[in-house]
Amino acid sequence: MRKPYIAGNWKMNMSPSEGRAYASSLLEAVKDAKADVKMMVAPPFVTIPAVMDVLKDSPIIVAAQNMADHDKGAYTGEVSPLFLIDLGVKTVILGHSERRQYYGETNESINRKILLALSHNMEVVYCVGETLEEREAGKLEEILKAQLEVGLKDVKAEEMGSVVIAYEPVWAIGTGKTATPEDADSAHAFIRKTVESLYSKDIAEKLIIQYGGSVKANNVKALMAKENIDGALVGGASLSVDDFLPILTFDK
Ligand code: PEP
Repeated sequence: MRKPYIAGNWKMNMSPSEGRAYASSLLEAVKDAKADVKMMVAPPFVTIPAVMDVLKDSPIIVAAQNMADHDKGAYTGEVSPLFLIDLGVKTVILGHSERRQYYGETNESINRKILLALSHNMEVVYCVGETLEEREAGKLEEILKAQLEVGLKDVKAEEMGSVVIAYEPVWAIGTGKTATPEDADSAHAFIRKTVESLYSKDIAEKLIIQYGGSVKANNVKALMAKENIDGALVGGASLSVDDFLPILTFDK
């Protein structure tokens, strides 16, 4: 049985003071609602301490949206996984399509970050997904396979319990277009099958695969009802407690 895992990626939104206020109201709302899912929010780096201050003893995980591929040194502007760990962060989103698209991250460079995060016992939410052009060219499976094979290269079987995959079709992110539950489920099934071929049936069956791409209160239930969809990575709709709470409590 895979426990649903719902995550909010705030992207470059929410200052430290806004994040603190949001975290307090989310915590209150979640206490009353008793959401029966694993919950996470990923604030911008500088907002993490304020949010962590509020959520540190709560069931809501505070994650980072990215990290450096080195522990320390002359890497101006980068943030070490060790600094995140020092703040109490144990989960990191890696390979988001915006990192790939705007900051030149590749399957290879993301692989270095994944290996480093796992070496520090962090949980990794690894984002994969195709562009519209790739989907229309019939390359969905080829793209996902390469993202998984290269992104997870040298990840050991025993580390796979700390890896979550987020399937995020790039054309569905922030566009209001959602993959149909059927399309998403079939991509998730392909991801599971690929992980089975790279590792084992047992690892593939335990793997949490989140869907991301315009998840909202009105579509989360249909998506989560699909066999291979185990959670959601939510961007826009995670930015207000009123929008995020019904997603966290989708089964209520
Ligand atoms: C995301 O940023 O990972 C995302 C899925 O965004 P949105 O929900 O806004 O499409």
